[in-house]
Amino acid sequence: MVESWPLDGREGLGDRLRRVFESGRLPHAWLLHGAFGVGKRRLALALAKGLLCREGPSFLGCGWCVPCGQAERGGHPDLLVLERPEGKARIPVALVRGLVGDLGKAAVSGRGRVALCAEAEALGVEGQNALLKTLEEPLPGAWLILTTTRPDALLPTVRSRVESYKVPPLPEDGLRAWIRARGLVSDSEVEDLVRLAGGSPGTALRIVEEGWLPRIRPLLAGRGGEESKGLEAIFEEGEGGKAGREEKRARAAFACDLCLAALRTRFPEAGALARAEALLRAKARLDLGLGAEIVLRSLEDDYIL
Ligand SMILES: [Zn+2]
Repeated sequence: MVESWPLDGREGLGDRLRRVFESGRLPHAWLLHGAFGVGKRRLALALAKGLLCREGPSFLGCGWCVPCGQAERGGHPDLLVLERPEGKARIPVALVRGLVGDLGKAAVSGRGRVALCAEAEALGVEGQNALLKTLEEPLPGAWLILTTTRPDALLPTVRSRVESYKVPPLPEDGLRAWIRARGLVSDSEVEDLVRLAGGSPGTALRIVEEGWLPRIRPLLAGRGGEESKGLEAIFEEGEGGKAGREEKRARAAFACDLCLAALRTRFPEAGALARAEALLRAKARLDLGLGAEIVLRSLEDDYIL
């Protein structure tokens, strides 16, 4: 059976990708960008499955052939995965070079090879440069799929050589159904979780698994004393105890994101706070020395909701 979840409720993106497969003009390098947990990796795997399917490249694959099964479960010999090692801020450049070398080898299945790189922002400049030759002189039957939450962290030379697709958040109804189907929380907590997760199943899962929900709920209601107490608990939790530096940074960032999500639900005009955030992010990036063009292009993506 074809796994439809990666695109449920996001028919615009689904139609666009289906047309690309039907046209037969498949890009050699794809970039899927969007917020944390919206399903970029699931979609990347589904595209890889479609590229490796025995029935020929087809959108999301046939779902029943051996290569489709292998791609879905992991373990397809021609599906190469590049990931940031746990606890590291960057993907070591040696791993990138290894991937580039492997991508150039003959396909085991004869169909082609697909390299998947999640968190492409963790490639750093050196890692991205190591990918450039593959992007500039693509090999027939070799595909590269990058996913990132931060397309602006990619070099202009990389961005101009990949076909970019924004993966939008799930609509509220879709997320609600996803949460209920998995029995993630009790009925009385479903709506709060939907409001906090901002259309991201990955965020919903993380909120529950890491026990953030009871801490963040007082912020949703915005009750004075309770809110300060809640914040204290959140920041304490955000410090992450004995975790390593990168994990602590990730937890602190997640705590900030959750507080923002809670505040967002209290703003009268939908999207107003998200726009303010986008502007602040753009300013911070300009302060960091990023070029105006790239900052404004990504602001446009974020600002126009
Ligand atoms: Zn198949």
